Amino acid sequence: MSTHGLEPIDSKFVPRFAQIATFMRAAFREKAEGLDIALYGVPLDWGSSNRDGARQGPAQMREMSRLIRQTHFVTKMQPFKECRIADMGDAAVNPLDLMGSYDSIQNFVAEIVDSGALPLGVGGDHSITLPILRAVAAKHGPLGLLQFDSHPDTHDELLGHRYNHATCFRRGIEEEVVDPKRYVMLGIRGTLYAPDDLDWAYERGVTIITIEDFFEMGVEKTIEKIHEVLGVEPCYLTFDIDGMDPKDAPGTGAPEPGGPSYRECQEVLRGLRGLNLYGADVNEVSPPLDPSGMTALVACNVMFEELCLLADCVKRRGNE
Ligand code: MN
Repeated sequence: MSTHGLEPIDSKFVPRFAQIATFMRAAFREKAEGLDIALYGVPLDWGSSNRDGARQGPAQMREMSRLIRQTHFVTKMQPFKECRIADMGDAAVNPLDLMGSYDSIQNFVAEIVDSGALPLGVGGDHSITLPILRAVAAKHGPLGLLQFDSHPDTHDELLGHRYNHATCFRRGIEEEVVDPKRYVMLGIRGTLYAPDDLDWAYERGVTIITIEDFFEMGVEKTIEKIHEVLGVEPCYLTFDIDGMDPKDAPGTGAPEPGGPSYRECQEVLRGLRGLNLYGADVNEVSPPLDPSGMTALVACNVMFEELCLLADCVKRRGNE
């Protein structure tokens, strides 16, 4: 497949520190037409309840993603050669208008989805995934969801408010953009507000692979379970960087010790080929809490795994 002049800058020939930063040095395009996969940022963190700074996540990830090379280590996949991929810049958000920003994010992603491209987003706090899901579900129906996270994000309210990064997937189920029967949370842990924090999700049939479950099941059984629950219907992958252990990803607003390592997350991600993905994101990287940039770099590697999964979906659909 021709990449139509969308070749990213090749760091073997152009120094990493040179030129303008885009995600993984991709070409920049303002419109989604003609793309297979659209990379974009959502610099919004007003849905964050604790330490903020995730609004600066897309900028730092563009900078740190200069280190991402273009070939997958195991599969040798080359997404930028096999698909038409560009950085579309950021969704227009307003840090003083949370609900208006959600509308704007939804419209931005709807344009991507309507053009036939798959959205791969970078947050932002985790609440940005709700308007993204609204846009993707408008085209593909209620979605299966895989959520890497330390927190369930299915609370009803936090601090008296219904729209934030602790409630986004409860709203998603209520709005029927997420199918709770095809929804897997992975890595849930940490102290709870109350013993029944997870009950609402359990009662709706959400599959919760807590950290206790994960370390008992191991990577392989976890992958099997994810495929079993998500099946072959359209689904979406969301990766909250606080799902990973803070040893590997400390630069985030609400870190929870005792999580899966980067390596373990990578193994799970690499086991997800075959899912019928219609989009993905990574979020909650907070540059002010990440002075070395390591959390952003780890998140960029998650993003590359997601990119390869989406590229694999593009290829499979092209062959149908
Ligand atoms: Mn989350």
